[in-house]
Amino acid sequence: MTYPDPSSRSQALARRAQASLPGGNTRTTVFMKPYPIYAARGEGCRVVDVDGVARIDCINNFTALIHGHAHPALVAAATAQIALGSAFGLPTESEIDLAELLVSRLPAVDQIRFCNSGTEAVMMALKAARAFTGRPKIAKCEGAYHGSYDYAEVSLDPGPADWGGNAPVSVAYAKGTPASVLADTLTLPFNDTDAAVALVREHGADLAGILVDPMPNRAGLVPADKAYLEALRDVAHEVGALLIFDEVITFRLGYTGAQGLWGIDPDLTTLGKIIGGGFPVGAVGGRADVMAVFDPTAGKPALPHGGTFSANPVTMRAGLAAMQLLDHAAFARLDAIGERLRRGIDEAFARHRVAGRAVGLGSLAKIHFTERPVRDYRSAWQTPAEAARLARLNLELLNRGVLAAGYGLIALSTPMTDDDIETVVAAISDSLAEVAA
Ligand code: PLP
Repeated sequence: MTYPDPSSRSQALARRAQASLPGGNTRTTVFMKPYPIYAARGEGCRVVDVDGVARIDCINNFTALIHGHAHPALVAAATAQIALGSAFGLPTESEIDLAELLVSRLPAVDQIRFCNSGTEAVMMALKAARAFTGRPKIAKCEGAYHGSYDYAEVSLDPGPADWGGNAPVSVAYAKGTPASVLADTLTLPFNDTDAAVALVREHGADLAGILVDPMPNRAGLVPADKAYLEALRDVAHEVGALLIFDEVITFRLGYTGAQGLWGIDPDLTTLGKIIGGGFPVGAVGGRADVMAVFDPTAGKPALPHGGTFSANPVTMRAGLAAMQLLDHAAFARLDAIGERLRRGIDEAFARHRVAGRAVGLGSLAKIHFTERPVRDYRSAWQTPAEAARLARLNLELLNRGVLAAGYGLIALSTPMTDDDIETVVAAISDSLAEVAA
């Protein structure tokens, strides 16, 4: 079946969904014209849609499913816990087990708290930074996505019309964002050390924390320069603020996450996605003295942190099983297939004489339809022609048995074989031939 197909079951479901879900959807990120493809089931690295079409899944629920779908060890861990009860108004041993594993892998994380999403993790980290420092402002990088907390959304997608001069701009992403949110959020240019340091110094006395993703997807999936992250760490400490790494995605880059790869210890770290074994999750961890803001026994009024489903035992058990499978050998293999994928994409661009290439690290790749140097959000900004080529590529891939996310992001999973990677590379090459035509 070729997408789009008016007789497809996905199209029928999308029509039905219009009545009960605004725009027929719950997640803006899965919105797709003329209709989204509805998943029926997943198995290993493949998703089968409601029309029975199987595709290699390079979305992996927006990088969360590092073991693909229905991994037997994760199914066993989750179902064993469900049989014992899926949620309690009491703590369980499962959260200690996952906390201990994460603390053992991340030297900068002495203690950790769980929540239900990366959005919540970022929100709790920013609240913790404010509680610890007694200051209101946070800094974040232009174009970087950190979930849906108002402050973290500032300047998520300013366009050239908003840019003005070289300085980053603080603009609202969501309609109705209060002006006070903009006033308390400082936007930094990504990978521009001098400008970022100067801005932090200017606002330093009010600054609680600097939130930075070491390889921000929406800002181009370009790795941060080590010197940039070191400068953010140093200037944060110089002005008495905290350095917060958002590793909701980058924790899939290696055994010790991006902080291990870059060799930088943030004061706080946010996690999510892969640590839940396929279930909803988030976490904030960091220095014991900072994490003490959550501690009701620490003598001061603790920062309130609840969440009906926080540290849910099904998530904790599946998450522990997922993390245990991610040993050094698993990361070495993910690195190798990621390397092969990025090389294959670059070769395909060259073969078909299309301007573009793949960026990324480890199990993540992103396709840019440009040969200009991409270092930050503005240089990664797609022209309308580039955006149209990416949309065409994704459509071609869909009809060649490969699912990729709208932003050109490809996330690999451990069940992918070398043959699967070759299939994806061949599909990209064939699709680029169409894009070039
Ligand atoms: N931080 C980063 C870097 C992300 O990529 C995301 C989601 O994609 C989030 C935070 C928010 O996570 P969630 O979607 O679980 O709320």
